[in-house]
Amino acid sequence: MQAPTTSRRSGSIAPTVVPPLESTPVTELRGVGPGIAGKLSTIGIETVLDVLFHLPLRYEDRTRIRAVGDLSAGHCAFTCGRIESAGVRFGRRRSLVVAIGDGTGTMSMRLFHFNENQRRQLRPGRRIACYGDARSTSSGIEMVHPEYRLLADDAEAPTADRLTPVYPTATGLGQSLLRRLVAQALDRLECNPDIADLLPEGVATRHRLVGLRHALCTIHRPPAGTSAEAPLHHEHPARRRLAFEELLAQHLALRVLRRRLDRRIAATLDRGELLVQRFIESLPFELTAAQCRVVREVRTDLARTRPMHRLVQGDVGAGKTVVAALAAVVAVANQRQVAFMAPTELLAEQHCASFRGWLEPLGIRVVRLSGRLSSRERARTLAEIANAEAAVAVGTHALFQMEVAFANLGLVIVDEQHRFGVEQRLALRGKGERDELQPHQLIMTATPIPRTLAMTAYADLDTSIVDELPPGRTPVDTAVAPSQRRPEIVARIRRACVRGEQAYWVCTAIEESEALACRAAENTACELAEALPELRVRLVHGRMPPADKDAAMEAFKQAHVDVLVATTVIEVGVDVPNASLMIIENAERLGLAQLHQLRGRVGRGARRSACVMMYDGPLTETARARLEVLRETSDGFEIAQRDLEIRGPGELLGTRQTGLAQLRIADLARDLPLLPGVERAATELLQHHESRIAPIVRRWVGPDADYGRV
Ligand code: ADP
Ligand code: MG
Repeated sequence: MQAPTTSRRSGSIAPTVVPPLESTPVTELRGVGPGIAGKLSTIGIETVLDVLFHLPLRYEDRTRIRAVGDLSAGHCAFTCGRIESAGVRFGRRRSLVVAIGDGTGTMSMRLFHFNENQRRQLRPGRRIACYGDARSTSSGIEMVHPEYRLLADDAEAPTADRLTPVYPTATGLGQSLLRRLVAQALDRLECNPDIADLLPEGVATRHRLVGLRHALCTIHRPPAGTSAEAPLHHEHPARRRLAFEELLAQHLALRVLRRRLDRRIAATLDRGELLVQRFIESLPFELTAAQCRVVREVRTDLARTRPMHRLVQGDVGAGKTVVAALAAVVAVANQRQVAFMAPTELLAEQHCASFRGWLEPLGIRVVRLSGRLSSRERARTLAEIANAEAAVAVGTHALFQMEVAFANLGLVIVDEQHRFGVEQRLALRGKGERDELQPHQLIMTATPIPRTLAMTAYADLDTSIVDELPPGRTPVDTAVAPSQRRPEIVARIRRACVRGEQAYWVCTAIEESEALACRAAENTACELAEALPELRVRLVHGRMPPADKDAAMEAFKQAHVDVLVATTVIEVGVDVPNASLMIIENAERLGLAQLHQLRGRVGRGARRSACVMMYDGPLTETARARLEVLRETSDGFEIAQRDLEIRGPGELLGTRQTGLAQLRIADLARDLPLLPGVERAATELLQHHESRIAPIVRRWVGPDADYGRV
């Protein structure tokens, strides 16, 4: 496609002053009163420029009438014909079925909700146009509740001359309203020469990017003659141009944030070698080479005058906790306190136990802030933190969000496992006065993030990778089995538990519904208890009161329970080395990263462990390929990379966990090749065009993005 360049202001004739679109409130558009404006602001639209950057999710093709005989199941289509018959059917649900033909074939339109009026109007002989999803039934092609319109006998079928965009929306904002607003905004764009193309010079040429104005017009109004999927294709010039800019905006926001953080001052933690050595010598194991390397990186950061912001990545079981403990020792050796935040009470408990085991022999007092402390205990703990008697405090994020006053906090450790988005990072760091000493921050995550992605999505953090497992781990045997083989699997559990081992049985649900998963787990627990009367089966799920949940986990840890039936709540970090068998039901419903995490719960002891991923067949090609990846490798980074290729990062990291805020048009999986260019462009902007940064961030990340300020 020819790439028109953005027209530049000619300068010689400027008869009227057109206000810039970014400062034109959306209320200036026709049809937008205060009510609509309020609703628009809930989806981030405040100005006319915001309307232009509100991009379609997908398109409908009403440019062509498809012959009824050409309709194929699974596709949306626009078709037109004459009603051949119409009548109410009384099946399982009453419906109005209208047969429509055009000489090439017949299809039916089925309405489950209809009124007398519709019934009267939809009578044989009338011409009708429908747009909807064609599906195949035993009696041929059918559309359920398509959009339809009755036509006069001599009327042309109402085809559109462009693809029809479908926008993300909120209740009370119809598609036709959004389309009208976009049309008006595009009109204003026409007569506003000054929509700034903010990409640095040379970037557009280097990456063959079309001009911004052209990209926006095309993405909102793709011309007829292309398929409805074409503008969504990753190589589509308009989409690619906008995706590049969006990734750039996101990345810039983080780089700017990082720059601001780097201007802050932290305590220099460069003393205390003796205590650190005593700690290392007291460990029951040698640190791996990877752990030593990461420790060095962390210590270099801590010795600086600006606060550390380091992400420590490492596969499940790589031994990140001891790295964190060492950082804590460094802080304490420099008379600073440490806050250690975990995502759940259970993990806080586990980390607290590890830390106490390692640190208390060195005379370092570790306290636990728990939601279950009595008010007296709580007051005492808070006092110990406030007067520095306690050197290390461990608790959940929630607990630290409340008023906890430290005497001299020097290091914050965050164990985020894999739920860590931009918002949390900001919340954590937004606080603190400029001239106050900032604590250093160490963030641990078990989510392996492919390198290219990490550079862009975690641009505000330095990263270290613990890329080696401690010696002596036996790889987990991984099998994939259809659910029909359940009896064999149950027998396998019996054999393992009779030998004194323990097993997890994880239940999943469609749509991540915890409620459904809990019900599934309850049923399975009953069935297993019946099938395995000689074993102790116990249930743990996310909806149980926290105390019951912990009691169940504790019982499993103490080996008072043989089989733990659970929902995916156990995926995060629990450490029960005696468990050797992991059964995952409906594994096809989970992302690879999550499956990898679950599998990481076993294989922690010396004995051989196994993981069985059950599925309800038949599996799609993709699903089979995904599960195959887990059989082939146990390297979390490799798995992440493959998952990214097969399914995209939304699944890999969970939409909240991509590290970037919600993306409108870019797709991290498909746009991965753009990332090196995005980084380079960001560097150029930061060095040479600082004034363009705020508008570019504002456009894509939004007005609330405090991190857009340079
Ligand atoms: P993760 O990185 O998943 O958080 P942990 O820190 O929980 O892993 O470590 C997993 C287990 O490995 C723990 O029991 C820990 O004590 C042990 N461990 C950590 N480092 C080593 C090492 N260098 N050698 C042997 N065992 C280690
Ligand atoms: Mg851990």
